[in-house]
Amino acid sequence: MDIDLETQKLAEVTILKNAVDYNGRARLDTVISKILGTKPEIKNNLKDFIPKIKELLEQINSLPLEKQRELLLQKSPFYLETKKSVEKNEFHLPPLINAQYGKVVTRFPPEPNGYPHIGHAKAAVIDEEYAKLYSGKLILRFDDTNPLNEKIEYYDAIMEGLSWLNIAPNIIKNTSDDINLLHYYGKKLINNGNAYICLCDQTTIHNLRSKGLPCQCRIQSDKVLENTDKIFNGYYHQNEAIIRFKGNMNSDNTAMRDPTLFRIIETPHPLLGDKIMLWPTYDFAAPIEDSLDGVTHAFRTKEYELRNELYQQILQNLEMRIPHIIEFSRLEFEGLPVSKRKL
Ligand SMILES: [Zn+2]
Repeated sequence: MDIDLETQKLAEVTILKNAVDYNGRARLDTVISKILGTKPEIKNNLKDFIPKIKELLEQINSLPLEKQRELLLQKSPFYLETKKSVEKNEFHLPPLINAQYGKVVTRFPPEPNGYPHIGHAKAAVIDEEYAKLYSGKLILRFDDTNPLNEKIEYYDAIMEGLSWLNIAPNIIKNTSDDINLLHYYGKKLINNGNAYICLCDQTTIHNLRSKGLPCQCRIQSDKVLENTDKIFNGYYHQNEAIIRFKGNMNSDNTAMRDPTLFRIIETPHPLLGDKIMLWPTYDFAAPIEDSLDGVTHAFRTKEYELRNELYQQILQNLEMRIPHIIEFSRLEFEGLPVSKRKL
């Protein structure tokens, strides 16, 4: 099997960067793990892939450092510029995988369901610092798809908090602005057979999920198509029906056991009132919004680790662009906003 052109280019640039960073000698294990980080699907062809990478790496390692640098500049013109700015950054943030100078888009997605706290500040600072570092864009997106505890005063408080931190997003929007699009993609998933309407009560859902077994709604989902129209047309009430992702009820990753994508919430929304009752969960809204908004690097705390597979799977099923997910632990950036803004 031959490597496709895109992978070939990715491999070349990765090897060149690694060589330039380490005095002319790229290391095979580092290069492979970087490439896999960008293109995890290569894992399936690792046996064919490694010898090709090794060959390429040996070729590049045999060149003088100056020649490597020259080639790198040809193939990735922004690299050295980015590197300079990344090295200069006052918090020593690690460089982003696959980041192009001028093209990075990050987003800060708070839910307006409470007053902002230190956790928000950290996330916002990280999103903003990376956008600045790469001369990119920061989106502030209010993830307002659970009207239960959301209030106008919290949108305002978050805006105020950001201006207090001196953070000025390039774009400000609400997830609820896109509710029709989110419904559209929800229907599409159902029509593609990747999601279904579940009418079970919460105890049944919980029990089957912990046993790894499908419910009747999933088993008959191909036959009972009229429920789709019903749920979108407001036929059902709160707790009577949900839309679930058709994941894998046996998965070791419990987040993949048919999680909820939409639920009915009959509390009026702070911006849209009672026009909309069928609301997407964060699990569904986040990947769709990130993809549509052009986010290149989506930062999520480690607590979402199990949900990353779902994030990617939803976008894959919809054939939408998948942003890079960057995980950070709270610890890693401990003290970051504190030292910067003297909170
Ligand atoms: Zn069910």
